Amino acid sequence: MSLKERIGTLFGSGRNRDEIISELEEILVLADISADLVMELIGRVRKKSGMIFNSDTFIRMLKEELLAVFAGTASGGLSLPPGKNVLMLVGINGSGKTTQVAKLGDYFQKRDRKVLFCASDTFRAAGSTQLSLWGDRLGIPVIGGSRGADPGSVVYNSLSSFQTRDYDLLIIDTAGRVQTRESLMRELGKLINIIQKFDPGQPAEVLLVVDATMGQNTLEQARKFREFSGLTGLILAKLDGSAKGGSVINIVHQMGLPVRFAGTGETEKDLEIFDHARFVEEIFIQ
Ligand code: GDP
Repeated sequence: MSLKERIGTLFGSGRNRDEIISELEEILVLADISADLVMELIGRVRKKSGMIFNSDTFIRMLKEELLAVFAGTASGGLSLPPGKNVLMLVGINGSGKTTQVAKLGDYFQKRDRKVLFCASDTFRAAGSTQLSLWGDRLGIPVIGGSRGADPGSVVYNSLSSFQTRDYDLLIIDTAGRVQTRESLMRELGKLINIIQKFDPGQPAEVLLVVDATMGQNTLEQARKFREFSGLTGLILAKLDGSAKGGSVINIVHQMGLPVRFAGTGETEKDLEIFDHARFVEEIFIQ
């Protein structure tokens, strides 16, 4: 049953207002919106709706409140300044980093950027290989390192090629890491330092890839990644499944980070500019 249908059924259930409100809270928390934010949103809708308490009004007002969460952040997409830019993608293992690196490479290559990939994931046996396969497919060169090589040296090498050759966009894939492993998180800071030695104005963006199928743990991930790598935005991957990615709302609400893109599948074409209004609409359908 979709969120919209559940809310409709609840309002039609003959329960009293307080019972409906408390059920609504549960329904929204199940959509991965944090309990605190749910209380805040419902509180506001309650106040606004006054005596009008029906499903349609409630849903309309809730959508308005959800959209307001996004209002303080930039709209989706990413327009890079002219010249050479560096993007770095970070996130936990399996969130979809390498795939989104490939998609972004394709996206910007189609917008006339000369793209270079850096596979700094020397931790996983397949880390570098996976991006190389994408590079072959998309016609984008990849600088990688052997397994176990220092990711810093791989990033350094990629920057050397990037600076001296005719590229204007370097996209760095990083090894997946859990936010609780401080040593690995600190490594991200080192990579940023290396980039800033080449150009203090870079990286242009550090993007956290958030898996839409993950629950509320993503807020804690985002906090830690920001602490260690100075995040500038988000990519919401795997939004094509049944998951609605509600947890990203908590990150946007708490941290004010913009969601740049949504990943909607496993090929390079499955990348969409994140659309606030559509995202909010789709939370209620399906
Ligand atoms: P990484 O470990 O963070 O680099 O994650 P990968 O890029 O290897 O992706 C992990 C898995 O998720 C792979 O099987 C990808 O094909 C899949 N994947 C990545 N992005 C998406 C997406 O937007 N939608 C779907 N359905 N699958 C995705």
